[in-house]
Amino acid sequence: MMKEKAIVFDFDGPLVGSGQDKAVHILFSSFVACWETSFRAFFHPENLEIDFERMLKGLIRYPGAPRFQQLSAIVSCIVRDVAEAVKDPAELGIDKNLQKEYEKLKQIYNNFYSSLNDAAAKLYWKPLEGIKDVIDTLAKNYDLYVASGIIQEILEKDFEHHGFEKRFFSGIYGSNPEGDMDKASILKKIKNRGYRDVLFIGDSRKDFEYAKEAGVKFFKVKTCDDYKNLLIETKNELPDQIDVCEFNDSELARIRSKVLALMKLYSSGKRPSFEQITTFINTGNL
Ligand SMILES: [Mg+2]
Repeated sequence: MMKEKAIVFDFDGPLVGSGQDKAVHILFSSFVACWETSFRAFFHPENLEIDFERMLKGLIRYPGAPRFQQLSAIVSCIVRDVAEAVKDPAELGIDKNLQKEYEKLKQIYNNFYSSLNDAAAKLYWKPLEGIKDVIDTLAKNYDLYVASGIIQEILEKDFEHHGFEKRFFSGIYGSNPEGDMDKASILKKIKNRGYRDVLFIGDSRKDFEYAKEAGVKFFKVKTCDDYKNLLIETKNELPDQIDVCEFNDSELARIRSKVLALMKLYSSGKRPSFEQITTFINTGNL
């Protein structure tokens, strides 16, 4: 039987913790892709802090956006210090040769970013501590769902791989390879089943926007402590956060120190493996 209210979890972040790893991966992969092409000329090898601060502006402007949109915003910051994504590299105001090389830059970025994510997922990304008890508790009073940007087939594999139990969930929904099934449309679909109240638990500003678009409530979870607050706040009605920032100061400080260290290492000619990079990000050891 359907319950009155539903709680929907984003997968990456609220169920399986990846911390700020993806932000670090995006920035460092963008740096590597530029470094390996003629875009290297835009960097300040003696003062990479300048380049990092520019790139960060691009990331912060497009949190949780599709990866190539993020890349174009970051490259735009590198070449002209403007945090704006572009559809066509010609819009970056760069010469024809560089425009042609942008396709190569994109491929390097795509492969590097995917490989880093794969290595981190294998070695370090784990379900949040205590999450299975949280699910067990919430399932007593709410219908539970997953709404994720991960492609359906991969999502189902990841769900099982991390030991989550299907019996606690009324639906596990991912995206499709065409990319036209976003979290907002999944949330709308769930809401239209006739729930009195729906809460989406996500970990980014973009998730917050999806919830608003679908007309459901939102709560940000990045750590198991956030779940403790959620359980306190859901005593009567489901909570609803009215605004969400992407990174707090300590998260930004962590992203800055990790990415800058990796940029300096890479520009000095060192080529650590993906396993070594994710180990450095997660443990500090290199
Ligand atoms: Mg997420």
